[in-house]
Amino acid sequence: MLIIHDMRNLQKVINKFDFCLTVWVLATLVLNSLMHYIAFDFASIYLHSLFQFIRVVHDYTLGLFPIPSLYIAIVVLISILYLYIKRSFYLFSGVSLYLYFFWKLILGLGVMVALFYWTWGFLYHIDNHRIAYQYEKVQLSEQYICDEVQSVQLKLDALRSQLQDDTLKLQQSYSFKKIEDSNRLAQEVILKSWAWPTIGKVRVRKLQPSGFLMRFSASGIYIPHTIEGHIDAGLYHVQHPFTAAHEMAHGYGFTDEGFCNFVGFVTCLATEDAYHQYSAWLAYYRYLMNDLYRQNKMAYYDMRRSLSIGVRKDIAAIYEHIDRYPDFFPKAREVVYDQYLKSHGVKEGIVSYSLMTEMVYLWKIQNPRNQLVIKHFD
Ligand SMILES: [Zn+2]
Repeated sequence: MLIIHDMRNLQKVINKFDFCLTVWVLATLVLNSLMHYIAFDFASIYLHSLFQFIRVVHDYTLGLFPIPSLYIAIVVLISILYLYIKRSFYLFSGVSLYLYFFWKLILGLGVMVALFYWTWGFLYHIDNHRIAYQYEKVQLSEQYICDEVQSVQLKLDALRSQLQDDTLKLQQSYSFKKIEDSNRLAQEVILKSWAWPTIGKVRVRKLQPSGFLMRFSASGIYIPHTIEGHIDAGLYHVQHPFTAAHEMAHGYGFTDEGFCNFVGFVTCLATEDAYHQYSAWLAYYRYLMNDLYRQNKMAYYDMRRSLSIGVRKDIAAIYEHIDRYPDFFPKAREVVYDQYLKSHGVKEGIVSYSLMTEMVYLWKIQNPRNQLVIKHFD
């Protein structure tokens, strides 16, 4: 009797609209899981059609607003939530009310997941690497890393001397709009040379309050639902150009974290601007040093000692800003994000960020005539 009574309650709370939404959510999940097995390249078709359409519609409407779409989305979400709660108390009571809340919660989460795929997530099925180089697993030798670190140290010193003539931490900074515009201009030129679509005008926003992302161990995030990239306003300003270029690469449709680091790096080099280039080389230097630390700790400390005082102060400033916003859940984000990446076909999980050094290596040895390779690596 109780079961029959509950079934009647359940029927009362699930209407036709909910039924259609449920079918759409389930169809999306099935489509995503079967994509490897279907004969045609759905992800590529999606990239060149619906994704571009979404990009253009957003970039030339909400993208023109001076505030992040995320703030508008939060207001809309809270309003919907308020209306649902108000309606549910008006329509239901007792068991029906609990069922209604539970059902709407499950459906709401399902809709968010389905929206994630239709606004961006299907792009996980596109192999990013083949666009810029032929990917193969390489083990960078200790000698190569040491040579690269020494060469990058010289570049950092040369660029820094163009920006500031003392060894205090870098004072010069640009407005974030200028950083965003320079990045977009350079990144679109690179993506066009790879025959990758750039119809939209990807926005990357500086997210307030400062430290909001850093407290979850992130310096930036691309949110597919709002179709915009974000960097944490609490980051040391020298990190802004590289981090923003990384998030912009997500916005143009790349999903692989290491590849977005690589795109961010070459984007900043292509800007022909010392501030952007310094930001990119500094990020690359830190990934190289992590590689070296894993291979030979003594060599790592030797290299660190040989770093000039000015660059050392900038790296210290990066950590000083990170320390201002300690993690809410140390390690939790790493575990969750690692599992998320692996479940979306990124075998290396969170380690994929650091594969940027391998990607730069593959790109430069496979493209010796590339203008950027000639200019920055010869
Ligand atoms: Zn990313």
